Amino acid sequence: MTYSLNGKIAIVTGGSRGIGAATAYKLAAHGAAIALTYSKSAAQAEAVAEEIVKAGGKAKAYGADAGNPEALTAFVAEVSKDFGIVDILVNNAGIFEGGLIGQTTTDDYIRTRNVNIDAVFNLTNAVVPHMNDGGRIINVSSVWGERSLMPGISAYNASKFAVNGFTRSWARDLAPRRILVNAVEPGPIATEMNPEHGEGGDAMRALIPLGRFGKPEEVANLIAFLAGPEASFINGATIPVDGGAIA
Ligand code: NAD
Repeated sequence: MTYSLNGKIAIVTGGSRGIGAATAYKLAAHGAAIALTYSKSAAQAEAVAEEIVKAGGKAKAYGADAGNPEALTAFVAEVSKDFGIVDILVNNAGIFEGGLIGQTTTDDYIRTRNVNIDAVFNLTNAVVPHMNDGGRIINVSSVWGERSLMPGISAYNASKFAVNGFTRSWARDLAPRRILVNAVEPGPIATEMNPEHGEGGDAMRALIPLGRFGKPEEVANLIAFLAGPEASFINGATIPVDGGAIA
């Protein structure tokens, strides 16, 4: 028997493509109404929302740059007006920038921090006061939130360690309200951010005992499970979805 998210309202940041779009589709397939954000890809995000609506679900795309705190506050107000009280928050939007230390620009570092850390904090801080008790927060971290694994990724690496830190702290902060907070840690997943046959693809594949990149849906499956009723005793966990890369 499958579980239902009927009547639940979910926010998915960065829902225009990749893991975010797969998550929006999956949560909607389980019955949740979806508010998804984008920064630049309006047409792609609206196409995701339209497909959900065509399939009989509820969804709307909102322009809300994760790096802009005012845009995030305005987004939270709009979602409560359009949908009501939020039950599920998926902090998915993320970027990869940078390189070896000594060759990473301050701009790359600051952009990574803005989107991967500050936005996760700012949006969650804005949503939690208006969230239903018993809600769920799922942070999309990374295996690079647990390990280093390869050179040239320190800004991203540090940003995902921060996401895991938030996850553990918020699990304690919000337990009195029975809001469960967990992180998923994708290994290399074939998306536009990380194409399997792009630069460095072979080196990354070599890290994975299963010998292939994951698919966005394989991450979305875990996110939807963590959002659902069967994950009722999972809190503060950081769970790899990585084909064994950090086993
Ligand atoms: P992607 O680049 O394909 O998609 C990222 C999404 O975030 C897009 O919808 C993009 O529009 C959105 N986004 C980017 N900057 C934004 C901003 N400032 N405001 C709002 N939205 C913004 O990437 P993906 O591979 O689907 O990655 C999704 C998440 O998974 C990220 O947090 C990433 O760090 C994490 N992750 C990905 C991999 C991988 O190998 N693909 C591995 C580990 C973790």
